[in-house]
Amino acid sequence: MPKIAQIIVAAGKGARMGGEIPKQYRNLGGMLVLERTLSAMLSSGKIDQTLIVIADGDLRAAEIFGQRDVRLVTGGASRTESVKAGLDALRPVAPDYVLIHDAARPFVSANLVNSLIAALETTDAAVPMLPLADAVKAFDGSIGDDLDRGGLRAVQTPQAFHYDQILAAFDALEPGAALADDIAVAKSAGMSVAAIEGESSNYKLTYEADFERAQIDIKRTNMKTYYSATGTGYDVHRYDDSGNVLWLCGVPIECGYTLLGHSDADAGLHALTDALLGAICFGDIGDHFPPSDPKWKGASSDKFLEFARDAVLERGGTITHVDVTLICEKPKIKPHREQMRERIAELLNLPLIRVSVKATTTEKLGFTGRGEGLAAQAAATVKLPE
Ligand code: MG
Repeated sequence: MPKIAQIIVAAGKGARMGGEIPKQYRNLGGMLVLERTLSAMLSSGKIDQTLIVIADGDLRAAEIFGQRDVRLVTGGASRTESVKAGLDALRPVAPDYVLIHDAARPFVSANLVNSLIAALETTDAAVPMLPLADAVKAFDGSIGDDLDRGGLRAVQTPQAFHYDQILAAFDALEPGAALADDIAVAKSAGMSVAAIEGESSNYKLTYEADFERAQIDIKRTNMKTYYSATGTGYDVHRYDDSGNVLWLCGVPIECGYTLLGHSDADAGLHALTDALLGAICFGDIGDHFPPSDPKWKGASSDKFLEFARDAVLERGGTITHVDVTLICEKPKIKPHREQMRERIAELLNLPLIRVSVKATTTEKLGFTGRGEGLAAQAAATVKLPE
């Protein structure tokens, strides 16, 4: 999995909004704007490192974020300098990807973050953009020409980049250069940039009216009702002597034999993937990863589980709890059980107390009892919006 860092730019003084408090520190439905932005970005579950760029002399940030797993860096005079300071501070971390986001966009969705990260597999940079709804005219005090809005796009953040490339692009800038955004820097260095569909809900808090809209949006979200859905999954794989290692619940077990299958034959993760897909009525693992497709030959089952996790996120859902039961005479599960729980918790971005793995035998009865194969069953509970 790529190592992913984010830089949240919160160095603005909020001059356009008026008032004493910079907008990233204003209260929005019981939370500061910056806290909302941070938790929205982290909801994707894919970001390993967070760095917040703050204004020189900003003491609030340390007070609010001092106890959290977040690094603070002082920005520069322009946005370009602030982002540069953030990128420089990430040098020791050397992430594969970096997402750069404005503190004043607290409604970014996990889905948008995931789409940007996915795009980086085939491009150097990715940016969310939206078509313009309003007509657009040139204006310099008097009304000028009509502009063709079909050829124009509004640009949002987060913007996503391969870290080493965007760092080199910023390093190559003339001192004092101030570009419109980070995509402009990427393009100046010849990086390829993919456009992703933005979200109208991911608006930027710029004017007082944006704050009023945000308050209403939060009230509406708080009124949303959810239901709980449970899915179940079951899978079987046959033992085989063609290998020494067997994968179970994302953990390799050296036992002198293996499990036979098209992918890595991890019956535990397959059953769990099916349980998650079941909770959102999204077919089964075979629909999405057909064994007839050579692409999945020998594939790590992590991919299947991550796909199901992201499918839950895309529906606005949250995974509440998962439970896997392994049914076999061999290998012994207990010595590996905690490691299995930890691996599943990591893949699903869940705290350990929401992940259960247990095992049973079938008293030497049936195919599991005769030691011909191993079975796994799983249940997943998911919270979904009505
Ligand atoms: Mg299977």
